[in-house]
Amino acid sequence: MEIKEDCSRGLLLFQLAIKIAIIGGGPAGLRAAEVAAAGGAGVSVFDAKRSVGRKFLVAGRGGLNLTPSESSDQFVTRYTGSDQPANLWASLLADFDSEALRRWAFDLGIETFVATSGRVYPSEMKAAPLLRRWLIRLREAGIQFAMCHKWVDLQRSGSGWRLAFKGTSKNRAF
Ligand SMILES: Cc1cc2nc3c(=O)[nH]c(=O)nc-3n(C[C@H](O)[C@H](O)[C@H](O)COP(=O)(O)OP(=O)(O)OC[C@H]3O[C@@H](n4cnc5c(N)ncnc54)[C@H](O)[C@@H]3O)c2cc1C
Repeated sequence: MEIKEDCSRGLLLFQLAIKIAIIGGGPAGLRAAEVAAAGGAGVSVFDAKRSVGRKFLVAGRGGLNLTPSESSDQFVTRYTGSDQPANLWASLLADFDSEALRRWAFDLGIETFVATSGRVYPSEMKAAPLLRRWLIRLREAGIQFAMCHKWVDLQRSGSGWRLAFKGTSKNRAF
């Protein structure tokens, strides 16, 4: 963590600039990176493979089902169960239900439609155009990507952490 000085609009502000390492550039990691960067964190995404989103691209081959089209109340029931309280999931999903996901895709320039099954697909059915535009947005947000970085260990290092990757020359401090 470091202190950053922001002199915008003549005010002297201090903000806590948090550095975040995300292991794995699948859709979960990319979304986590997007949210963390929007919150002001400096984000690095590490992936063992040569590029991110490989399984996501495979998922798009037969038509990428983005989400079901249904009310928030119904959507929440997909995650809840005997050990998964409804109120927890309702709060976790409150800001990002299936309609929000469709708006998110639209903001990337990806039109979606609801099939007769009630499932939501990108108009082009594929994952590649969405991933391409998503990565542009993430890079514009300042997110750093490190490919061919297979994470293997995490150690305390002073007030931060040291991430170990396969091949010691790739180790990084956070
Ligand atoms: C054939 C097929 C069709 C599918 N169709 C759909 C669909 O229509 N709709 C849908 O929503 N889902 C679909 N899925 C599922 C979807 O692909 C997954 O749910 C999604 O990719 C999971 O995302 P994730 O980010 O959790 O994990 P992943 O996509 O698996 O990403 C994990 C990432 O972490 C990296 N990683 C792992 N270990 C390490 C390490 N030690 N160090 C560094 N990097 C590491 C991997 O290289 C990978 O890039 C489909 C899947 C398949 C296989």
